[in-house]
Amino acid sequence: MLQNIRVVLVNTSHPGNIGGAARAMKNMGFADLVLVDPLEFPSPKADARASGATDVLTAARVVATLEEALVGCSLVLGTSARDRRIPWPLLDPRESAVTSLEQAAKGGKVALVFGREYAGLTNEELQRCHYHVHIPSDPEFGSLNLAAAVQVLTYEVRMAWLAQQNKPTKMEKTEALAEGDAEVCTAEEMESFYRHLERVMLDIRFLDPEKPRHLMPRLRRLYGRAGVSKLEMNILRGILTETQKAIRGEPHKRGGS
Ligand code: SAH
Repeated sequence: MLQNIRVVLVNTSHPGNIGGAARAMKNMGFADLVLVDPLEFPSPKADARASGATDVLTAARVVATLEEALVGCSLVLGTSARDRRIPWPLLDPRESAVTSLEQAAKGGKVALVFGREYAGLTNEELQRCHYHVHIPSDPEFGSLNLAAAVQVLTYEVRMAWLAQQNKPTKMEKTEALAEGDAEVCTAEEMESFYRHLERVMLDIRFLDPEKPRHLMPRLRRLYGRAGVSKLEMNILRGILTETQKAIRGEPHKRGGS
């Protein structure tokens, strides 16, 4: 999927930035680099900054116009250091990653377009893009180094892509369900647990009925956040039951539940 996503650098003046961008791309698993009319390329300065990513530089295509760079692309995202040069659909890098992957998954080619170091992309170039992407940097000092901007965008695509890879398959979900570990407790089960917990905390005198200190609401908030599964509930209830037995001096089972 990442192969369907292309990085386009427009009129780059510093070859070092081209090398830096190539390295950023390769780190994140991207290989398709297109250079629109670069000032100086190929260049030893680009090779030096690319470190081990010279293969990305060697394979990079140099073209004369943005139009040529965008051939075959069904989604074009233009990055801009300034928030809103012209009113246009705007995405943050995370949203741009999701949008790019959706397109790439359908087999479409995506272009991430980056501008000149000193002047960014022209309005005309920005108007060739479906969306604009702004990295929400400090407005007082909002312009990132070109290669750093490439790093941020490709990193976000990689993260979104990894999140997709890690989603459990249907089969894995079914297996987890069988173990009771994916099924979250119902409200009644939670209520019954809170009553049990309160009872035990009173018994061990952790909860003082005269001075409850919002203990129960706080614990409700904590367990509510956790999304306790049925299997986890068995463990929690087991601990409470064994605590009660211990208070009463009854024999306890070893090894937990
Ligand atoms: N002075 C230029 C800065 C260009 S920085 C301007 O104001 O537009 C070079 C390129 O890096 C930009 O064209 C863009 O592609 C990228 N870039 C830098 N900072 C960015 C940011 N905050 N959000 C998105 N892209 C950014």
